[in-house]
Amino acid sequence: MSIRTNIGQVRDKIGKAAQRSGRDASAVTLIAVTKTHEEEAMREAVDAGITDIGENKAQEVRQKYPLLQRDVHWHFIGHLQRNKVKYVIDKVAMIHSVDSLSLAREISKRAERLDRVMPALVEVNVSGEKSKHGLVPDDVRSFLEEVKDLPGIRFQGLMTMAPYVEDPEQTRPVFRALRELQETLLSQGYQLEVLSMGMTNDFEVAVEEGATHVRVGTAIFGVRDYNQ
Ligand SMILES: *Cc1c(COP(=O)(O)O)cnc(C)c1O
Repeated sequence: MSIRTNIGQVRDKIGKAAQRSGRDASAVTLIAVTKTHEEEAMREAVDAGITDIGENKAQEVRQKYPLLQRDVHWHFIGHLQRNKVKYVIDKVAMIHSVDSLSLAREISKRAERLDRVMPALVEVNVSGEKSKHGLVPDDVRSFLEEVKDLPGIRFQGLMTMAPYVEDPEQTRPVFRALRELQETLLSQGYQLEVLSMGMTNDFEVAVEEGATHVRVGTAIFGVRDYNQ
């Protein structure tokens, strides 16, 4: 199956999921997760209409950024170490995975030097799995208070990863909980329009539950080979 065909199918599923929940498909940004994939595959995706790509390693962003030669938005979606912020700060359009004050401060400081304000999301560990990064839901509000005066970073929403399960329906409570947290925070005056949730296994459920950004790799590019 070609990358172009795969993207068409993913878009089709996003459209149907949006319809089922009375949403407009144009409210959902498809981020093609290109980690481990070469620039050639990335260009194929961009030429098939992808405008947003996702990477989870600073080193990979650094390597591929000058090679891609396409005008796209790069999203940083993985765990970001403070000492790697400098490698991505001038390249990415949004950092989805901010879960500590020290990381937010470093992003703000580096962005300020470039005279920019970095759009960011708070990563939330809704499911409570120990292996996952992210703040526990109850800590998000105090975190937003702590970061609200940082000049170089602006939080625009929330991000989560659901546990991998065979039946994607089981992820629904996780996505719903993130949306409910967003609604609570919106009612408290925080401007958090973005909900980054849903991957290959569960993006349809995520769209039904209000995702504005889905992060899809395998369904577009096939199974990743980490040993290449
Ligand atoms: C790899 C990755 C994805 C995409 O996963 P697929 O199952 O291949 O769609 C999404 N989000 C994050 C944070 C990832 O690291």
